[in-house]
Amino acid sequence: MSVLRQSATELLAKLNAGEVTSVQLTQAHLDQIKQHDGQVKAFLRVDPAAALARAKEIDDRRKAKKPLGLLGGLPVAIKDLLCTEGETTTCGSKMLEHFKPPYDATVIKKLKAADAVLIGKTNLDEFAMGGSTENSAYQKTANPWDLARTPGGSSGGAAACVAAGMAPLSIGTDTGGSIRQPAALCGVTGLKPTYGRVSRFGLVAFASSLDQIGPLARTAEDAALLLEVLAGHDPLDSTSVDVPVPKYSETVKQPLKNLRIGLVREHFGEGLEPEVEKAVRDAVEVYKSLGATVKDISLPHGKYGVATYYIIAPSEASSNLARYDGVHYGHRTNEKQMVAELADERNKLVAAGKTAAAEALDNPLVRMYRRSRAEGFGPEVKRRIMLGTYALSAGYYDAYYLKALKVRRLIRQDYDVAFNEVDLIVGPVTTSPAFKLGEKVDDPLSMYLVDLYTVSANLAGIGGISIPCGMSRNLPLGLQLQAPPFEEERLLRAAHMFQQATDWHQQFPAMVPKA
Ligand code: GLN
Repeated sequence: MSVLRQSATELLAKLNAGEVTSVQLTQAHLDQIKQHDGQVKAFLRVDPAAALARAKEIDDRRKAKKPLGLLGGLPVAIKDLLCTEGETTTCGSKMLEHFKPPYDATVIKKLKAADAVLIGKTNLDEFAMGGSTENSAYQKTANPWDLARTPGGSSGGAAACVAAGMAPLSIGTDTGGSIRQPAALCGVTGLKPTYGRVSRFGLVAFASSLDQIGPLARTAEDAALLLEVLAGHDPLDSTSVDVPVPKYSETVKQPLKNLRIGLVREHFGEGLEPEVEKAVRDAVEVYKSLGATVKDISLPHGKYGVATYYIIAPSEASSNLARYDGVHYGHRTNEKQMVAELADERNKLVAAGKTAAAEALDNPLVRMYRRSRAEGFGPEVKRRIMLGTYALSAGYYDAYYLKALKVRRLIRQDYDVAFNEVDLIVGPVTTSPAFKLGEKVDDPLSMYLVDLYTVSANLAGIGGISIPCGMSRNLPLGLQLQAPPFEEERLLRAAHMFQQATDWHQQFPAMVPKA
């Protein structure tokens, strides 16, 4: 079998047995990128020479029998929302086209220490705002299963590159579903950890109370391996939680006994495509055959999830994005041209006798901020800033933001009640398989509704995983598992059990060679 179809765990065993080198593995993935990324457009930047040099260095250390980190020479792709020292980090935005962070994000440091080969930075919706990767200022990523369709978003590049055999592992971020939804639409495994499980230091902020970094991979076992590297308390992120990190890569193999799974009544309502519902119900049958018991449960406030999320996330975003003013950070407008235009406008107004209007013109500093932001941000980001600024404004704060915080608490309480009765909640990730590129991009509301099944986990701060559970019209479908806070181990073990009993995770799009 081609190395491009093998799991990271299998590849690591081969690396350790001397059956393959990191240089060979890295080269194979680089070749796949070269051959197919012109169409898929998963990567924003790849530096083959740097990746190969790093792989060679790891191979040399392995040959010299020096100790190696957990990822010992495996290629890993990085969502371009994570700071990489001295290397361009655009966040999919023109605003940061030339931004070279002076430091590595904590997870990047951890990946380097674990001897990963960082193979490239992947495409995303601008500042992770979106669900189709079409909001990137640079390119639209395609779904490797059908190039006319979206890979999902915002970690569309991260999911597409794993599905397309361009990297066995990648790092995504999930604020309202951005790991789980693209994982589902591309047929890979993606885990959003509990809020606080993984350090956010060096992750460019979208909505700070919701953002989490997590792994995308071909199998649950691989996601466990990668999460083991990523997870842990970090003094540089005060919201990261100081709880022990299990050895996920080992415990993932232990099956769960007497598993009690909950099916959320409200998940099977309007909008869910019959084929997705069938795949989810079939998956539940698989769990039953493995000894699980199933219970109907209710998350009564889940129906307010999307509305709540689209108040809280834009509110936080409007504050986080204030730093891009062309002075502290980001694109700055052409000042010479701006000053000349301003003088021109003023002269015209004065000549027309409109002195009051001339005096009311922006001063150059304010105008510089406005122009820089107008030029640097794309339309969806501007929409979020407007939504958030409105929700936080003095007259509306109580009616929108405060109310959303209260509903958020109720959503969390629903989970607390449900997890008294069940160990895991099982359901769909999306209502349908991948939609067509262009289908929703001009209709923000329909794009926001895609997040129906994913935002509640972020609002409650709990973990969730998406694993392949079926196909519809040759497009992958995802199953979502959710667990109580800091029970990533349970998610991974349950996902692995499912993957031992099924082969949906071993399906590949045609562009990934068999041999
Ligand atoms: N689709 C959601 C949004 O547009 C989620 C994005 C994310 O998780 N980063 O906000």
